[in-house]
Amino acid sequence: MAAPTASQTYLSTRGGSTGFSFEAAVLKGLASDNGLFIPEAIPALPSDWQTRWSKLSFQELAYEVLSLYISPSEIPADDLKTLINKSYSTFRHPDITPLKSLIPEDNLHILELFHGPTFAFKDVALQFVGNLFEYFLVRKNAGKKEGEKRHTLTVIGATSGDTGSAAIYGLRGKKDVSVFILHPKGRVSPIQEAQMTTVLDANVHNLAVGGTFDDCQDAVKSLFSHPVLSKTHNLGAVNSINWARILAQIVYYFHSYFALLATLPAGAPTPKIRYVVPTGNFGDILAGYFAKRMGLPIDRLVISTNSNDILDRFLKTGRYEKQPVPPSQEAQGGLPADGSKAHEAGVKETLSPAMDILVSSNFERLLWYLALECEAAGTDHAKAGAVVKTWMDDLKTSGTTVVSQAVLDAARRDFGSERVSDEDTTATIRKIFTEAPSAPYVLDPHTAVGIAASLRLVQRTKEDGEKDVHYVSLSTAHPAKFNHAVDLALGGLGTYDFERDVRPVEFRGLEAREKRVRFVERADPEVVMKVVLEGLESEGKE
Ligand SMILES: *Cc1c(COP(=O)(O)O)cnc(C)c1O
Repeated sequence: MAAPTASQTYLSTRGGSTGFSFEAAVLKGLASDNGLFIPEAIPALPSDWQTRWSKLSFQELAYEVLSLYISPSEIPADDLKTLINKSYSTFRHPDITPLKSLIPEDNLHILELFHGPTFAFKDVALQFVGNLFEYFLVRKNAGKKEGEKRHTLTVIGATSGDTGSAAIYGLRGKKDVSVFILHPKGRVSPIQEAQMTTVLDANVHNLAVGGTFDDCQDAVKSLFSHPVLSKTHNLGAVNSINWARILAQIVYYFHSYFALLATLPAGAPTPKIRYVVPTGNFGDILAGYFAKRMGLPIDRLVISTNSNDILDRFLKTGRYEKQPVPPSQEAQGGLPADGSKAHEAGVKETLSPAMDILVSSNFERLLWYLALECEAAGTDHAKAGAVVKTWMDDLKTSGTTVVSQAVLDAARRDFGSERVSDEDTTATIRKIFTEAPSAPYVLDPHTAVGIAASLRLVQRTKEDGEKDVHYVSLSTAHPAKFNHAVDLALGGLGTYDFERDVRPVEFRGLEAREKRVRFVERADPEVVMKVVLEGLESEGKE
């Protein structure tokens, strides 16, 4: 770990690029060698952080953490503070990410990350990213005259429901930015559809596309490599590999650490704190890893997956491998034993759809640090990049990468993992609703994947007689966003009512509001490109 440097620069996990500024890393998203950007050095905390930071607000803490990663020569201190304050002014809770006690006698806490505009944790990062994009573009355009061509950014993305609305709310009304979000028509929940299409800002374009989410994603991918569009337009992505998203998420690990300490009696010993994170693309929990490496005393980070369990299998075996179809399932026609539908790509549809992934894109960032430690003497960045490149090439060509025991041991030092079935997910929603001391508390299905894992860990802690352990389970969405799963879990209980217990006032009447959405018959890249160009023209951009 290096001391914070005056100029923080970024490199690619695959070794092909180094020396990128924060601005370049954020605007580019993915490196040219297809690697992900990481800081050249993880900054260490100032020696007085424990005392100086302990009473700070979320926004003040965000400034302290972010300024360790962004050089003041790139974003002056006052500008960074303004960006942060603007980004979190849209949150409904004064603590931004409040920590609540869920089961006090078991030291189980829940970190609510869903108080942003779209009621999901992605707002914490995307509210900031939207303002950051605008800040960079406005600066590039400063001094431009009337009629002179402006720097613009055209963000194109596909969504299965959740990321789309967070991106739209992050970018709505931002100057010199346009956003096009493709969703599979009729395949996102009515609430999610309404959240996206009732945003009427001129720079927001919703495309309801005939086809599946995968079709939408394939169309977006071909637009990014389109011989004309990619040359004539500055295309941007807001998917979970953008470094600025990881960075913004580091803040709530610090904030919740201080919030937890504040609940302990004065003079109590510092407990072991374990974070349990419902995980899909590994972005949320990776932020915890950076916090730990900076020096935040986190005892363990626990990955909790649904039945798309590539990370749980990696932690158990050291094989990073797309889902193999076990022989017992082949005999049943390839259907997984838990009854979820398998589609051709091998992604299983579960009750926690925002975690339905085949591989976890951000895991490559952790692999780089493991490669650096175990295969590159801890110092040889070029060697670490080369090793990661081999691993990712293996994964792409054969569907499997196998790491050494040393690498696996290093991963297990910081990470644990659990896998949670749909059945376990609904049972956990029911259990917490009926039994938790704070009942009735309604979990969303993603959060329930984390709580199911936390309950297992609490049990093991008791059996092992371990003392002074606290669990912080991350809550990634408000239950109203995923009412199907919640109804499935609680519908049979006479005591539960969606309108009374779950639906927030902001969602009342949402589906009946005015909508703006363009229907696109099929996910043909040429057809989608035509719609994008027409959308830009409608805004007076070319
Ligand atoms: C995106 C998302 C997750 C998974 O987060 P990752 O950073 O991809 O691991 C979990 N829950 C909800 C509600 C999400 O939207």
